[in-house]
Amino acid sequence: MQAWVIGNWKQNPATSHDVNALLDDLLTAINAEKQVDTEPSNSRCKLMVAPSCIHLAAVTARLKDSSMLCAAQDISGHSASTGAYTGDCSAQQVADAGATWTLLGHSERRQYHRESHDTLLQKMTHALTQDLGVVFCIGETQTQYDEQQTLNVINEQLSVVKDLLVQQPALISSLSERLIIAYEPVWAIGTGKVPTVEEVSHTHQHIKQTVAGFAKTVDNMTVLYGGSVNTDNADSFAADSMIDGALVGGASLKAQSFLAIAHAFNRTSA
Ligand code: PEP
Repeated sequence: MQAWVIGNWKQNPATSHDVNALLDDLLTAINAEKQVDTEPSNSRCKLMVAPSCIHLAAVTARLKDSSMLCAAQDISGHSASTGAYTGDCSAQQVADAGATWTLLGHSERRQYHRESHDTLLQKMTHALTQDLGVVFCIGETQTQYDEQQTLNVINEQLSVVKDLLVQQPALISSLSERLIIAYEPVWAIGTGKVPTVEEVSHTHQHIKQTVAGFAKTVDNMTVLYGGSVNTDNADSFAADSMIDGALVGGASLKAQSFLAIAHAFNRTSA
């Protein structure tokens, strides 16, 4: 199974200068791996970064000759193309800037922008109709985890995918290439707290089975884990066959730690 390691840069780095410095570090390290004939961190593990919208075009231009992909962190739910939606960036604009994927439903968007089921269904439809792949983020809060509600929360969040397929059945055949699920327990994001590998594995199995129940052709959905992944714990997540990669926040802001996490998944992917 193809592994993925995706860096969510959030509202970082602060300046174009610092974005370029991070890209310099990433591209220099990847080229150095190629030259010394060690197995590059991206030979079996796809790498992708999600910069702020303001930096998208510059980042995609710099990644043009590399195998690293670029995603937006969000797109407008109002329109797939243009319209009177001040402050929004549409799927078409993001694709025009060179991005090929977008994150959707990150817990920070759900929390600070009150993103609902209907909003996310609109965004997912717009992304897929503009040929953007979608990394759909789901996960429970601390309270929901404590109350053992994880699988119920996940079922509810995944109903966006179910409804998408009811509305757009033509998407079923290509869904496994164009949709990735990122399981990110909200309480693990940026906190240094992580669930056990067994817990993550069990939840991922549930996600894969649930999506397969929506459409038989989607019988092995790519499911990434996100939440305080770092160089110390990446190997243990990578060793589990249910965990197809990682969505990485803080540790993606340093080339060395991001690529070390990619190496962990590169070693274990078939
Ligand atoms: C994230 O925000 O998607 C994330 C996983 O962050 P961190 O790795 O910093 O917990």
